[in-house]
Amino acid sequence: MSIPEDDWAQATKLLGDCAEVVLACHVAPDGDALGSMIALGGALRRRGCRVIASWGSAPFEVPQAYGFLPDLDLLVPVEQVPAAPDLLVTFDTGSPDRLGLLADRVPSAGAVLVVDHHPSNTRYGTAHLLDPGAAATAVVVAELLDRLGLAIDESAAASLYTGLLTDTGSFRHASTSPSVHQLAARLLATGIRPDLISRAVYDSQPFGFVHLLGDVCSRAVLEPAAAGGLGLIWSVVEGVDLDRHGIGLADVEGVIDVLRTAREAEVALVAKRDPLEDCYRVSTRSKGAIDVGAVCTALGGGGHRFAAGFTSYGDVAGTLGEFRARLAQAPQLAM
Ligand code: 5GP
Ligand code: MN
Repeated sequence: MSIPEDDWAQATKLLGDCAEVVLACHVAPDGDALGSMIALGGALRRRGCRVIASWGSAPFEVPQAYGFLPDLDLLVPVEQVPAAPDLLVTFDTGSPDRLGLLADRVPSAGAVLVVDHHPSNTRYGTAHLLDPGAAATAVVVAELLDRLGLAIDESAAASLYTGLLTDTGSFRHASTSPSVHQLAARLLATGIRPDLISRAVYDSQPFGFVHLLGDVCSRAVLEPAAAGGLGLIWSVVEGVDLDRHGIGLADVEGVIDVLRTAREAEVALVAKRDPLEDCYRVSTRSKGAIDVGAVCTALGGGGHRFAAGFTSYGDVAGTLGEFRARLAQAPQLAM
């Protein structure tokens, strides 16, 4: 389902001649949240618009994997985001709570444009560019740039490519359509280097990450009977693991990608301790036969059908117990 023309008209009207805009993406931003936000922000700034961008969670540090992105100087910490912006644009954020400390800007802003691809999006804006069929929010932003007549130059391309790369799991997920590869081709034609972007995103972990991965993988649990017999693999990243190996929470995003390689498990789960918020940030993935998005939504989280998450304030046993119970009820999808 693509975006209605009326929604495009509203969005391009809001952004067409704006002099100032505040951009925000979801807490603990990933490649698509940051990339899509920075791509639009950079392009608007080059057109003469005053742009600031932020996200509402600590630590306010760009994850090392995304430190190569252009236009990161658009970013300001939460305290510097105006209390009542005239125009707020959110990226990759399905509901206001996912804005964390910036959630209160939604009711106070003059207008809120929501740019997203989460099927669970609650339509909390005054205008929406929402395409649940899009492989990444970056796909929506690419079309928005075209419709605004803003060039997709090398800078915008690097950011958009990062969103596309990370949200399609390096062009491996079911969302990898012909149009995804067509957009990737167009972005590459600007001269960006896919080898350098992949290296920065996936192959620039501190050495401590390798040891952490060893610890976390060696205690992974396989439950063949879970998910109606399709199998669950899970593990935990505790605060002590992060401390011992000198790693931040933002740098363990890739752990789930290793766990999910186990053939015996349809579903993978990693519970990551967030020492600042005193909770577990739970990442889940499926290979296509289970809608983990629905499972996580039922547990107060959200996401996509095959990549989703939730936040748990309980202990590991309780968190896994609730997840297992929901998983047992999830219908098996035809693949
Ligand atoms: P990841 O596991 O990579 O952090 O997230 C996978 C997907 O689930 C993303 O679309 C992300 O936005 C969503 N997600 C992860 N954690 C949460 C959460 O605590 N709440 C909600 N609503 N969505 C989440
Ligand atoms: Mn996304």
